[in-house]
Amino acid sequence: MTHELIEKSKKYLWLPFTQMKDYDENPLIIESGNGIKVKDINGKEYYDGFSALWLNVHGHRKKELDEAIKKQLDLIAHSTLLGMTNVPATELAEKLIELSPEKLSRVFYSDSGAEAMEIALKMAFQYWKNIDKPEKQKFIAMQNGYHGDTIGAVSVGSIDLYHQVYGPLMFEGFKVPIPDVYHSNSGDPVQCRDECLHILEQLLMEHHHQIAALTIESMIQGAGGMIVMPEGFLSGVRALCTKYDVLMIVDEVATGFGRTGKMFACEHEDVQPDLMAVGKGITGGYLPIAATLTTEAIYTAFYDDYQKRKTLFHGHSYTGNQLGCAVALENLRLFEAENIVEEVAKKSEYLQLLLGELQSLPAVGDIRQIGFMCGVELVSSKETKEPYPAEKRIGYHVTLKMRDLGMLTRPLGDVIVFMPPHASTMEELYAMVAIMKEAIIEVTSGVTNVRA
Ligand SMILES: *Cc1c(COP(=O)(O)O)cnc(C)c1O
Repeated sequence: MTHELIEKSKKYLWLPFTQMKDYDENPLIIESGNGIKVKDINGKEYYDGFSALWLNVHGHRKKELDEAIKKQLDLIAHSTLLGMTNVPATELAEKLIELSPEKLSRVFYSDSGAEAMEIALKMAFQYWKNIDKPEKQKFIAMQNGYHGDTIGAVSVGSIDLYHQVYGPLMFEGFKVPIPDVYHSNSGDPVQCRDECLHILEQLLMEHHHQIAALTIESMIQGAGGMIVMPEGFLSGVRALCTKYDVLMIVDEVATGFGRTGKMFACEHEDVQPDLMAVGKGITGGYLPIAATLTTEAIYTAFYDDYQKRKTLFHGHSYTGNQLGCAVALENLRLFEAENIVEEVAKKSEYLQLLLGELQSLPAVGDIRQIGFMCGVELVSSKETKEPYPAEKRIGYHVTLKMRDLGMLTRPLGDVIVFMPPHASTMEELYAMVAIMKEAIIEVTSGVTNVRA
């Protein structure tokens, strides 16, 4: 039975973001989950060290979330949001507006983070058209940024490994550097920040009349390698966008819903986005709901008689799905009932101590963390920060070893991602970091001094 399933998986599937040759060598089929662990078809258990790809909040099979879906199922599974709404989508919109930064007052649903970003781009583009400034058409994106895998989101993305091949398909725009302290020459956060803000301001000074919006992840670049922005950068970008009349699109898909120890990461610097994309944790990791939140000013620019052609012609078949919205509502109720955000903030201090113990390992170059969003960068030389030769795939092999030892995650190059569910206890955090440590030691001890 299990053997057959594995053969079927190799024969019929094509998995996302996966070299299938790797999968064929190391297949894995998950059958069930409970708390922060999942179990494969052979009965082996794993800690969910990356929250099922950065989604899960309360663990798997959380009773209240399971119940919320069953209750909604007795009413209806799905209608549509085109020209009408439904009960949980309406109530969830109110809740999202209540929890999000003050300036945001409208919710536009979709099914994934990438779509939420596509919608933000279209809104920003059409906004300027609708208010008779059609020359503002271009976007500024951050180098090393990631906003999802659809073509619009890829166009404002900037990770060569994922994006370069699609170059000819992308729309053109401007790219500006992000302050990456560890990989910078100076290693000084203030200097890095000020240099990047200066470059951004030069660009805005010259081109703001043709720029619709700027896109940026919130406080930390996730897929780009867990690069935490120095204090004052995000708020500095906000100030420049305001000064040069450019909309600010903040991507909170990974960071939203408590992940960084605030409900939304932009709260760390009191930043008010003009558009904000959310997804991932919104349903506690249960169902595909995402949303683009925006201001009354932008909403109003689309509101007119139909003949004025100001409508936002965008939508998806499953937008506003009732089962998803019902579980999202219950998820957000649990956030309050169980003080999830405060708990993450508190437990992340303990996590910082745990991760600090990895610092002494010869292969650990840098440890970056904001809340429960962490990356451990492995390097061939601590002194020179020289990376391992890419073909050694050290990060990949460390995560395979972690899988052996009973924990799942995915690396970003040689950065080991640690993003446990918000509900993880201190004991569970300890056990997971211990597995990471053991895997790093086992895999790197033989190759630490190898040079390219
Ligand atoms: C995951 C992610 C996305 C894309 O979300 P999907 O639901 O996978 O489409 C966008 N932005 C950021 C910052 C992400 O981490």
